[in-house]
Amino acid sequence: MNNNTQKEKGLCLNCGKPVTGRSDKLFCCGKCKNEWHNRISGSERRSRERVFSMLWKNYKILEMVLEGGERTPEMATLSNAGFRPEYITGFRRIRHGRDEYRCFDICYNKTETRLYNIRRAPEIL
Ligand SMILES: [Zn+2]
Repeated sequence: MNNNTQKEKGLCLNCGKPVTGRSDKLFCCGKCKNEWHNRISGSERRSRERVFSMLWKNYKILEMVLEGGERTPEMATLSNAGFRPEYITGFRRIRHGRDEYRCFDICYNKTETRLYNIRRAPEIL
């Protein structure tokens, strides 16, 4: 049962028991209200942490590439190291094939098989 259905029937969003009292109440008691909010904020936090750790891993790999001096690392090698190209913090359409991707302060361009022009870039203002 989804949250809207439960709300329409006047059932607690947390435990599903009937809610008594004011018709706009969503929970049967304070304990259920707290449990529900803790669960929601917990899953949001885990989701945020998962995305951030992907971005951070990409960033560390890009830093290693910059320090190692490899100018056009292969996507396959990067993927093996854990690089996930779908996680970026910025994207700028330049023109076809020259689009710029960003992971925090590191910018790069890419083809299907390689990254190139990896560089530190000034912070976005
Ligand atoms: Zn309840």
